[in-house]
Amino acid sequence: MKILVVNAGSSSLKYQLFDMDTETVIVKGGAERIGIPGSVLKHKTKDGEKIIEQDMPNHKVAMQLVLHALVHPEYGVIRSMDEIDAVGHRVLHSGSDFDRSVLLDDEVLAICKKNAELGPLHMPANILGMEACREVMPNTPMALVFDTAFHATMPPHAYLYAIDYDDYKNYKIRRYGFHGTSHKYVSQEAIKYLGKPAEQTKIVTCHLGGGSSISAVLGGKCIDTSMGFTPLAGVPMGTRSGDIDPAVLEFLAEKKGYSLPECITYLNKKCGVAGISGVSSDFRDLTKAADEEGNERAKLALDVFCYGVKKYIGAYAAALNGLDCLVFTAGIGENTWEVRRMICDGLDYLGITLDPEQNGRRNDGSIHDISGKDSRVKVLVIPTNEELVIARETKELVEA
Ligand code: ADP
Repeated sequence: MKILVVNAGSSSLKYQLFDMDTETVIVKGGAERIGIPGSVLKHKTKDGEKIIEQDMPNHKVAMQLVLHALVHPEYGVIRSMDEIDAVGHRVLHSGSDFDRSVLLDDEVLAICKKNAELGPLHMPANILGMEACREVMPNTPMALVFDTAFHATMPPHAYLYAIDYDDYKNYKIRRYGFHGTSHKYVSQEAIKYLGKPAEQTKIVTCHLGGGSSISAVLGGKCIDTSMGFTPLAGVPMGTRSGDIDPAVLEFLAEKKGYSLPECITYLNKKCGVAGISGVSSDFRDLTKAADEEGNERAKLALDVFCYGVKKYIGAYAAALNGLDCLVFTAGIGENTWEVRRMICDGLDYLGITLDPEQNGRRNDGSIHDISGKDSRVKVLVIPTNEELVIARETKELVEA
């Protein structure tokens, strides 16, 4: 079975074609600058990358171009579109309507449109991706895999904000959480690695990338997560502030003359480790500036980030009433060993220690146990694979 995974952003459309018999990627790529002059499709096969420069005024044209590339006689990988058995779409927000992946139909599409206001940066693009695919491949079954769905098992005391209950009821203002496919994948991999029944496991998963979030996973189910109503909440991130006293908004608006939307843009784009350091949002630049150049603000940014993550680990150990396993994943979690060291430093009280040599080893794409010999908690680096989760869930739905 061949499954195409589609991740549509506002001006991009990323794709991966999976052979699900072997769970391998046949080809991947992405259309960039959709609707902006200079659109380009980058199509990566095992033989190399093909760059196709062509005007893509909208997502439908981009999708047509992707399909064209997939069946191209020279750099294509399939003979015809009919070889694609199903499409899996990555979708940001399920609202309170779906607690799992679903097959796309008119009714589901209408619900997604209703929920678009919950994710104004991503949902309109996700919907454009669905519509473009349906137009270009009208007979191919499609599944939607939501970033929020894994967190649907959170109990009310974890997802409710302490606001007027009627506002929660009327406007669905609550914690949703994001990066769900990643937290789900790495927690399931960790459970397999631990070799215990899922019900007996207490895991904290740290997805540390461009955006970062932490989840508490009890018996294989999410019971809390650090992102909230939007992906702006939780730990500090590359350019996002993470948790902040909401009263800062009014103060900022007054001091800098910002409107409310400008305040939110500021918190999304100008803050985080980039804001503190003034160096970069990229942790490779930050560790270099801190370690090699003695840049004090880069050091401070790393300290604030690591302290933020450490506090969540402590909080979630309390929520789980114990901890068996701590997982690091995504760009920073998988690669930046200094950050893992700083986060775990001083957590021996919780039973967390690291093996410095293992922690310093380069990530080779497999599960990597970095726990110290005396560590009561297994500390694992697990490369995430959100696209594979999407492909697996799509396959399951289509076969059912
Ligand atoms: P996104 O949320 O954009 O998908 P990633 O999970 O790719 O983000 O994480 C990006 C972050 O990972 C950057 O801050 C980057 O510095 C950090 N990182 C550190 N080492 C590496 C590496 N070897 N490869 C990729 N990213 C790395």
